[in-house]
Amino acid sequence: MPTEYKRIRCPTCHAIRRADRNAPDDLMHLALTFLTGGLWLGVWVWRATTRDPWRCGVCGRNLGGRTRTPLWVDVLAVVILAAIVAVGLALWIAAAAGQTR
Ligand SMILES: [Zn+2]
Repeated sequence: MPTEYKRIRCPTCHAIRRADRNAPDDLMHLALTFLTGGLWLGVWVWRATTRDPWRCGVCGRNLGGRTRTPLWVDVLAVVILAAIVAVGLALWIAAAAGQTR
């Protein structure tokens, strides 16, 4: 998992410190979306919009708090996922019906 860095004032250390947090691995999510025929897209959207908190690189203090995904992003991810599943099922059913003729 890639790591993001930035310089931020740490209240515990009373100094500017390098903070870090985990970042989404877009290449992995792209591969998983491709390999699962689009099913992974909802997970990717969720992960891309939900960030871990910044942590002080010296004392480890939480410097940002978890950024919560807005509700509409969660709803949008579920709708996209449901649409992909519905299209996949429709194509699968159509293909199965075509084979029985
Ligand atoms: Zn600190």
